[in-house]
Amino acid sequence: MKDSDYAEERFREMRFRMMRDQIKRRGVVDERVLEAFTVIPRHCFVPDKFREQAYQDAPLPIGYEQTISQPFIVALMTELLHLERSESVLEVGTGSGYQAAILACLCAKVITLERIPQLVENAETTLRALGIENVSVHHADGSVGWSADAPYDAILVTAGTPQVPDALKNQLSEGGRMILPVGSYWYQELQLWKKAKGVFTYETIIPVVFVPLIGDQGWEEKPPRNTLD
Ligand code: SAM
Repeated sequence: MKDSDYAEERFREMRFRMMRDQIKRRGVVDERVLEAFTVIPRHCFVPDKFREQAYQDAPLPIGYEQTISQPFIVALMTELLHLERSESVLEVGTGSGYQAAILACLCAKVITLERIPQLVENAETTLRALGIENVSVHHADGSVGWSADAPYDAILVTAGTPQVPDALKNQLSEGGRMILPVGSYWYQELQLWKKAKGVFTYETIIPVVFVPLIGDQGWEEKPPRNTLD
């Protein structure tokens, strides 16, 4: 066995354990979601120096003061969307591209938006190298969504927002689901929104900590002066 084959085999085993011990054991039950976590190589989405930590249940730095989210949270958010194979999804906050790759296993098309150009480039490179072809990455302010491909069956926001952006609500299709962290600059609650017969309802899932959504319908670039906001 070549060294590189051996390393990939080891990562495959670590990935299986992550799925079993950190995701399934904590209550994610959708077999399609669990399968996606055993297929997508998280170590390819983190900087080289963090590859060995890629299968721990923790966020990791990806540069530019941003993070790849904790695997359990990625799994939980994905499961709550109940995606169908034929559906289209908008992700706001591409970061490393890992969440987009997971979504791509479960639906027809993923549009993902990122405000930091270097992260757009890195994510595109990683996704292409892995042969994932149903994800389009755009450099854009995702707080106003992406009207060109709207409406979406599901929207997933991976940065914390002070309120649910109207633009995102407007881009959700009838029967659509949206999951996003809403709250202060420093901590939020995960909210699951649903649109049925034109009416929006939401439920709160768990407390979370995400980096801020910076943009027209999110936060300003600088943290608020009142540190509790
Ligand atoms: N989903 C990512 C992954 O799988 O690696 C993790 C995303 S990280 C927690 C949040 C990302 O949202 C950061 O890369 C950040 O630059 C991006 N972001 C923040 N505000 C944004 C905005 N208005 N539009 C697009 N991306 C934004």
